[in-house]
Amino acid sequence: MTVVLDMDETLIHSDFVGCSEEEYKAHEVMHSIPPFDFFLTVCDGVAVYIRPGLAHFLKLLHQLFEVVIFTAGEKDYADAVLDAVDPEGYISHRLYRDSTCEYRGLNFVKDLTTIGRDLSKCVLLDNNLISMAATPDNCILIDDFFTDKSDRELPLVASILMDLTELEDVRPVLRDAFCIRDIVDQRIFSQMFDQFEDDDDEGDVYDVTDVTDATDEKEEVYPENENENENENGILTVQEVGCHDSEPTESNDSELHQLVNNFTSLRT
Ligand SMILES: [Mg+2]
Repeated sequence: MTVVLDMDETLIHSDFVGCSEEEYKAHEVMHSIPPFDFFLTVCDGVAVYIRPGLAHFLKLLHQLFEVVIFTAGEKDYADAVLDAVDPEGYISHRLYRDSTCEYRGLNFVKDLTTIGRDLSKCVLLDNNLISMAATPDNCILIDDFFTDKSDRELPLVASILMDLTELEDVRPVLRDAFCIRDIVDQRIFSQMFDQFEDDDDEGDVYDVTDVTDATDEKEEVYPENENENENENGILTVQEVGCHDSEPTESNDSELHQLVNNFTSLRT
């Protein structure tokens, strides 16, 4: 099985600080900013925070899967980060911004049909719905990581991925568990359609930054939260899947139950 990992806000978080390491350390102390894990001199200075458990996560995945990074970041920046977080070389391949594509008006989509792997045995872990638009049934959405040292998402994801190794085809289970296809349709494409009708600006294209970086834009892309099991953006993530207390629907099967039960047991 191939596990494709997004980088920014999935495995690490970077602050592009535009100064030297010494200057930024002084700034951190003065403003009580959480200390970064390492500093890069590329891009005029980048303070990088590592998601807790990343080293163990990569080692574990390497033992079971082909591990691929697929980032919308540029190569120079991404390579500097990945060289630092993967000194053992657990990551087999690195794909960068130039491997993303435009899909139905969205920029920087990670289309798994382009990477030459069997899609029945391929999973993309990403914090951004737009990345998933072309192949939503292969995706697990993870909460954003910034600097929270108490974050425990990676061990949770690792257990989910290990369960998936038993499956002939990961797509039906991921589709039922995470509903990314429906959420992309409802939260992104229908919103885009409404907006195009409103402002008649057909040249408008949403990209990754519309959803991940711009808070005001996020309000437009995602409607208000109507489901108590959804996060503030109304999106199910690995944490919320374990929260379902309703009766299983017809589409649920034993594999899905195992998946959800496993999520639930991890949360207690
Ligand atoms: Mg990301």
